[in-house]
Amino acid sequence: MRSRKPTVVVLSTLLAATLGTVTAPSAALGQPTSTVPGTTAAEPNQVTGLTVTQADGYATVAWTPVPDATDYQIERTPVDASDVATGPAVVVGVWRPNRQINNESPTFADAGFDPGLRFQWRVRARIGTAEQPYSAPVTGTTQQPWGDPAVPGENLRTQWETTKAAQYTGDVDEYAYTAEIDRRSDRVRVVELGRTVLNRPINMLVIGYPAPPVTPAAVAATSPLAINCNVHGNEPGDREACLVLARKLAFGSDAKTIDLLKHTTVLIVPTINGDGRAANTRGNSTGQDLNRDYSLIRQPETAAYVKMLRDYRPVAGYDGHEYGNSTAGDLPMLPPRHQNVAKQIFDESLDMIEGHMYVEGAKDGWWACPYGCQGGSGVGLSEETILRNTLGLKNTVNSLLELRSSGGQTRPDEGNSANNRRRKTYSALWTFSQFLDYHRAKLPEIKKARGEAIEFQASNTGRLVFRGSRPIPLHPAPHPGEAGPRDDLPVPEMILDNAPCAYKLTEEQYNGARTDGPGGVGATVAQRIVAHGWKVVKGTDGYYVPLAQPERGLIPLLLDAQGAEEWVDGTRVYPTRTGRHNGPLTISGFACLSDATVNGPVTVRPGAILIATGTTISGPVSAAGATGVFLADSTVRGPVSVSGTTGAVSLVDNTISGPVSVAVNNTGSDPALIAGNSVSGPLSCAVNSPAPTNIEVANSVNGPKSGQCAAL
Ligand SMILES: [Zn+2]
Repeated sequence: MRSRKPTVVVLSTLLAATLGTVTAPSAALGQPTSTVPGTTAAEPNQVTGLTVTQADGYATVAWTPVPDATDYQIERTPVDASDVATGPAVVVGVWRPNRQINNESPTFADAGFDPGLRFQWRVRARIGTAEQPYSAPVTGTTQQPWGDPAVPGENLRTQWETTKAAQYTGDVDEYAYTAEIDRRSDRVRVVELGRTVLNRPINMLVIGYPAPPVTPAAVAATSPLAINCNVHGNEPGDREACLVLARKLAFGSDAKTIDLLKHTTVLIVPTINGDGRAANTRGNSTGQDLNRDYSLIRQPETAAYVKMLRDYRPVAGYDGHEYGNSTAGDLPMLPPRHQNVAKQIFDESLDMIEGHMYVEGAKDGWWACPYGCQGGSGVGLSEETILRNTLGLKNTVNSLLELRSSGGQTRPDEGNSANNRRRKTYSALWTFSQFLDYHRAKLPEIKKARGEAIEFQASNTGRLVFRGSRPIPLHPAPHPGEAGPRDDLPVPEMILDNAPCAYKLTEEQYNGARTDGPGGVGATVAQRIVAHGWKVVKGTDGYYVPLAQPERGLIPLLLDAQGAEEWVDGTRVYPTRTGRHNGPLTISGFACLSDATVNGPVTVRPGAILIATGTTISGPVSAAGATGVFLADSTVRGPVSVSGTTGAVSLVDNTISGPVSVAVNNTGSDPALIAGNSVSGPLSCAVNSPAPTNIEVANSVNGPKSGQCAAL
């Protein structure tokens, strides 16, 4: 963090007085440098208090505001080691008061220059269109690209870096660069998530300290964060930032990097759309926009990403893009707004953007704003096919990131494409670095939001919305941008007030051949459900997909005829029992209890399916040889025993007064879910295949936890 506290200013002023012009001898070592010339204006309306702080690929220019200024121009001049100009002075920035949330401390992140060169900066105010006197100049040497050229590993450079942004890093160069990072750093493992339509590898860097955990489940236990760098092939700026960031994380020896990687695992997917990147097209090789496919997973690229989400379970994410609006902010961002996203996830995502990115952006000079930012009424809406919303529906705190494509009026020196490319990439590098900081600082809050969201979704309460967004309220003035996306409230046809208990699919719907993939061949719905990680139970009359599970908000969007882009028109299955039941209850076939009260024991017979939400049961729950047992948001006054289940087991957010035993359940590839329960007695699990999981939502157990549940 580069703050401008009074003590720093005094020290810098002393240095400036002693040394004359302060040079930046430590810039090559990555140390921020700062200079403050005299703070007294020699002329009326002259900018004073100019400081320039060097960072990775940009320089934060800051000054004391001039009363009544309309805007400011930031001028940059190349200089030699003696601070003699070697080229013309150029206005590289225009600072406007809609830029940041703290106009009393104006800052501008100057970027686009070739890192390592030396410059002089000056700033002047304009009142109306009248130009006021320039400030006294400040000179400094900008930071070299990260990594000591003499240290193996650190000295790796991307094709984009070695060509000074004349070329983007090609596919083969990316594979060689990431493989070399993997080879030279114990912290990094490159895994192949899948292949594109044209058989390009889709790689992910898994980064931890001193080494990343070995299995996806072990990575999941570290509450990882994921950066998706390049889904639209013709928006490559973020990807170059990801490759630089990977090098810093792999080889950086600073305390902050080590501390971060000791506490979590960073997942970076440089190129989910390798075919589109190679062809410089938005879509993949079939023309499909992959960021309209993350729910549908018709394409191998999106299917690979969704399986990664299922297995690695990132708690937070960023999705990188570029945005062709020259009047918007530097860094349009947006949280998952779809109304089926749990409010906790929406709120935490909005906090990441407005509570962190806006605040840090105002310090460092980057202009974050709500996507759209100006006249953006048709963007940032509720399609669940967009990764931002898909991630939210998977209970992942996340944001879209757009890099403003062209310089526009506030960055007038970007006619040169290299200048433009460098500004975009280094603004992405800033954002992703801030994302890591946010995750490190706010992980308890992120995990709490995720846990509560999972419990909310599994409770299957509240209305369902097929399309429709939460509004993005205007940030209190001064607003960082002019206007965010439109409210996008759901229309009546997109609302289902009475949520079903489950969807039932026919054999044809579930296992039938599909034609919606590349070349007219698509994965079956069964395969796609596995990719998303949903639980399914095969009954005597069809396949049941209960809503009492963590992705409840996503399931109807793909299985309900009312969905805007669904896979199949499944049959809504409504609760079979609500209200009060006195005496023992025996379940045969299929039963769904919703907000029910059972005054007596519940017995689930062999082959039966029980789904219960919001239900109170006075007496034991005993299931032996059932096909499926789903119990969520319920209270059981007595023991719970689930054994010999052949389909699926899910116990989420229940209050159980007796012992809980989960044993000898063989649930195929999908582990029993035991998460967020409060158990007054012991919790024991044995001989389940596979072993149960809590997806990082801990149970509160008064008695001992034993066997396969010892760590849940
Ligand atoms: Zn995009």
